[in-house]
This record gives sequence, structure tokens and C-alpha cells, in this order.
Amino acid sequence: MPETKLKIKIIGDSVLRKKAKPVTRVTDEHRQILSEMAKTMYDDSGIGLAGPQIGLCAQLIVVDIGEGLYKLVNPVITNKQGKQSIREGCLSVPGISIKVKRAKQVCVQALDENGKPIEIQARDLFACVLQHEIDHLKGKLIVDYATFLEKIKIKRKLAVLKAKEKTKLKL
Ligand code: ZN
Repeated sequence: MPETKLKIKIIGDSVLRKKAKPVTRVTDEHRQILSEMAKTMYDDSGIGLAGPQIGLCAQLIVVDIGEGLYKLVNPVITNKQGKQSIREGCLSVPGISIKVKRAKQVCVQALDENGKPIEIQARDLFACVLQHEIDHLKGKLIVDYATFLEKIKIKRKLAVLKAKEKTKLKL
């Protein structure tokens, strides 16, 4: 089946705040969705994308930081080590970047697209992206890590964004 580009949900959409459900059995449908998620991520120059971002409340993520594509089902962090702070963006929070403190190294257990258990040892940027995407599965966004002052700035930026969206709809 050809891959279609999916529409990315933007902050304010309630699906981004829902807890994603674990996948009980990985099917062709999931494999198709994972491919479409990967295409959407590449088309939007992202390095990660999670199910809720395309309106799907399932524990699916795709990640590619330039070292190969990972399609993960039910990813769980089983170990964290060290600290790092990287300025992060998010396809669901356009125009905003926030410095987020996360673990420097993580161990992630998941299923691959064939339902086979896999374990990933990640560090630095890769570890950061995995933690970011797994946050999405818990309904957590980068804005939740913002400082008080940053939150005010974000509110203003999002109001402008919303106003722009409205004008777009009117045209
Ligand atoms: Zn994100």
C-alpha cells in the first residue's frame, strides 16, 4: 500500500494529552501506520514522531536521528543514567523550543514492527528523542518543562499561531 502523509495534531488538541494504549498484537495495520508515520516525520524534517501526534492513541513511535529508522511499539524506559539538557522542538508545538533536562543514557525495551522484543541502549541525542517520544505516549509535551517565564512567552506565541490558523480558515 502506498504511504500517505498524515496530518500532525497541534498543541491544544486533546488527543496530545491522552495516555496512549499499549498494542496487544502488532498487525499489518500497525506496520502500515508506522510507515506512514515515518514518511510524515521525514516530510516535516522531524527526528521523531509518536502516535498521539497523528491522532492515534496507541503506543507507537518512530525515530531517526540520522543513524537509521526505528519503528517501536510499546516502548518503555527500563534504565536511565546521567543528565543532559538539550533545546528541543516538537512538530506538535510549532515555532517553540525549550531546554529540557533528561537522562543522558537510557535503555528502552519495545517490540519491533514484527512484534519481536528488542532492547535499545541509547545515549545523547538518541536518548533525548526516545524520552521525548515516550513522553508523548504519556500525554506529556515539552511545554510542561518550561519555566514560568517561558510559559508566558509560549502562551503569547500560541495565541498568535491560533489567530493565524483562524485567518487561514476564513480564506
Ligand atoms: Zn514532540
